[in-house]
Amino acid sequence: MTDLVALVTVVSVARLTPRMTRVTFTGEGLSALERWPDQQLKLLFPPPGRDLVLPDAPAEGDGMSWYLAYQAMPAEDRPIMRSFTVRALTDGHLVVDFVRHDHGGPATRWALAARPGDTLARYGPAEIYKQDLRLDADWVLLAGDETALPAVGSLLPLPNATVLVEVADEAEEQDLPGVTWLHRSEGRRLTAAVADLALPAGDGFAWLAGEAAMVRTLRRTLVAKGVPKHAINFTGYWRARLSQDDAPTEADMADIQERMASG
Ligand SMILES: Cc1cc2nc3c(=O)[nH]c(=O)nc-3n(C[C@H](O)[C@H](O)[C@H](O)COP(=O)(O)OP(=O)(O)OC[C@H]3O[C@@H](n4cnc5c(N)ncnc54)[C@H](O)[C@@H]3O)c2cc1C
Repeated sequence: MTDLVALVTVVSVARLTPRMTRVTFTGEGLSALERWPDQQLKLLFPPPGRDLVLPDAPAEGDGMSWYLAYQAMPAEDRPIMRSFTVRALTDGHLVVDFVRHDHGGPATRWALAARPGDTLARYGPAEIYKQDLRLDADWVLLAGDETALPAVGSLLPLPNATVLVEVADEAEEQDLPGVTWLHRSEGRRLTAAVADLALPAGDGFAWLAGEAAMVRTLRRTLVAKGVPKHAINFTGYWRARLSQDDAPTEADMADIQERMASG
């Protein structure tokens, strides 16, 4: 195995908030990894009732041959792949924050039961997923839900940014500088907050992440306010009622095309 794909072992599990679990891993190659903000990776979870078995293929170059071997594995043996964010990477320790959502996907189930010594595999982080973030623009907006919090946390502090994060309730707030928290429990929604936002003059940059339909609405709102599409970095992190294994919808395909067109 190379640094692109490797096993990671849990060293500690902490409940950050009622709905956010922080897991710290060690593992081969972590000390040598480059670190950047909003750094994404895939985690590979054992299929239900099975051990974690990785494809027998080298994970070299762009990883494509490894990925094809992964896809060719029998479905019942194939590890379940989910996207996450590197919340921190220090001294060979990888920190990932897991949202404990109510719909019981494999990643959430794993995080709920995680114990020191448990093993997963990681795919990445890889430089091809490095985001082009214009955090030195005249104004910056970061807006997302709780799945975006690990990335937001890795981008802060940003003294001149407007940072809006929608979470379930007050208990989900984290100690992060400059965040305006919106509590779903009080009917405060990100879509309304962004619609009400008076954007400063000048050349701006917006970063949007969270539930895909919500992110789509946020992007449309900003475009209607005159923000150029190329100044908006947007990613649907999860899809209501759909798992990450479900096929892309037409709206997902349109998002992919928009992202490619916006460079
Ligand atoms: C680039 C990127 C970075 C991400 N970083 C993080 C991160 O650091 N931490 C993190 O927790 N998530 C992160 N996510 C989101 C995470 O990948 C998804 O939430 C994923 O679907 C969780 O997998 P699962 O196995 O729990 O659920 P799935 O099996 O994918 O879905 C099962 C069901 O759960 C629902 N569901 C999935 N996620 C949520 C949610 N958050 N809230 C409510 N319902 C949900 C789905 O709609 C579906 O009905 C990131 C996603 C991307 C694309």
